[in-house]
Amino acid sequence: MQLPAVAVSQSPEDKFREYLASRARPQRFTEQQRDLVRFIFAQHEHFDADQLIDHVKKAGLQVSRATVYRTLTKLVDAGLLRRLEIGPRMCYEHDYGYPQHEHLQCERCGQMIEFQSPDLEAALREVCVRHQFQTTGHTLIVRGICAECNRARVTKRRLDLI
Ligand SMILES: [Zn+2]
Ligand SMILES: [Zn+2]
Repeated sequence: MQLPAVAVSQSPEDKFREYLASRARPQRFTEQQRDLVRFIFAQHEHFDADQLIDHVKKAGLQVSRATVYRTLTKLVDAGLLRRLEIGPRMCYEHDYGYPQHEHLQCERCGQMIEFQSPDLEAALREVCVRHQFQTTGHTLIVRGICAECNRARVTKRRLDLI
C-alpha cells in the first residue's frame, strides 16, 4: 500500500546532485550513486541497509556495500530519505515527495501499514507549542497484530478446540 505522492519540483536524482554540489567540499555524483538513487526511488518501501544490498545485487547492479552505506547516510542528510527505527533495525523510507505519515507494524508478519492523521498532527503541534519546542519531525510506530494475522490466530484457536 502506498500513500499518494506529494508533488515536488525536482526528481530525487536532481535534488541529490544539488545536495552533493552544495557541500562545503562539493562531491561528484557517481554512476553507482545514480543507479542506487534510481533504484531506491522506483518504489516506496521500508528497508534496512542489508535488504537494500540484497535487492540491489538481485537487480544486477554493481554497487558496493560501502557505497550503499555511505549513500544512505547522505540521502538522509539531503532530506530524501528518513530513518525509521523498527525494533533493533534501522530502516529507511522516502521522505522527499512522500507525505507525512505514521505506521502500524504487525509483530507477526512484519507488514507496515501507513496512515495519515490530521488530528494526531494537530495534537503533536499543540504539545510542541506548549513546551515551546521546535520540532524537526517525528516517527510514530504502533506495534501490534494486523487484521489478517488476528483472523488467522482466531481460526487456529477454533481449530485447536475441535
Ligand atoms: Zn500481520
Ligand atoms: Zn512509511
